Amino acid sequence: MDIVLLGPPGSGKGTQARLMLEGNKDLVHLSTGDLLRSEVKNKTPLGEEIKSLIDRGELISDVLISTLVRHWAHNNSARAMLFDGFPRTESQVIDFVEFEKNSARDFLVIELIVHNSNIIDRLARRCVCAVCGYIDQSVSIAGEDSNWVCPSCGSDEVVVRSDDRSEVVSERLATYNHEIISIRSRFDMLGAVRCEVDGSQSIQEVKNAIAQAVAQNKVNGRE
Ligand code: AMP
Repeated sequence: MDIVLLGPPGSGKGTQARLMLEGNKDLVHLSTGDLLRSEVKNKTPLGEEIKSLIDRGELISDVLISTLVRHWAHNNSARAMLFDGFPRTESQVIDFVEFEKNSARDFLVIELIVHNSNIIDRLARRCVCAVCGYIDQSVSIAGEDSNWVCPSCGSDEVVVRSDDRSEVVSERLATYNHEIISIRSRFDMLGAVRCEVDGSQSIQEVKNAIAQAVAQNKVNGRE
């Protein structure tokens, strides 16, 4: 069963995706944000085209995203797929559900619910390991001179995402809050199974709640 992790920026999708992958070789993860950032980092023609959109917290076009995701999904279809940061618009939902149906796959949608004020606080403290992408909240945004060491790979290179600046965060949140309404209703209209998890709990509690939602849906014969 494929899994779609929905939730506003900073709701913990990346952290939970990492935990879900640990010890589960049957699961493969796509973060569209990571995929796009690697294009920017590698200065590919696509990366050059989308850099300013990402920096401003704006969405990349549906056509481009759906093409990238279909290509990735085609190469990874032997395993269960975990989507994080996709779908982000109603049009992407339609495309995604069509892909799942045409490929005779099944999926579960899990939405992490976190209040906006909590998100703003989390993103102001978010930093990312420049080497392995581990997401941490232990240094402030001005924390370049901290003695940070990545708990996952031991690197001391920490970066703050260009789109985690406060003015961009409000833009991203506004976009999310607008799009999520039609995303939810389109998933419902298309008969998808959707669960909500309180993402303001501790990392371990969110992890357990997600595991419970997945297990429950397996019990219901949707493996
Ligand atoms: P994220 O890491 O998921 O917060 O994504 C970072 C940025 O990448 C977003 O603010 C968008 O500019 C872009 N992006 C990621 N996923 C999508 C998507 N599914 N559709 C459109 N733009 C996306």
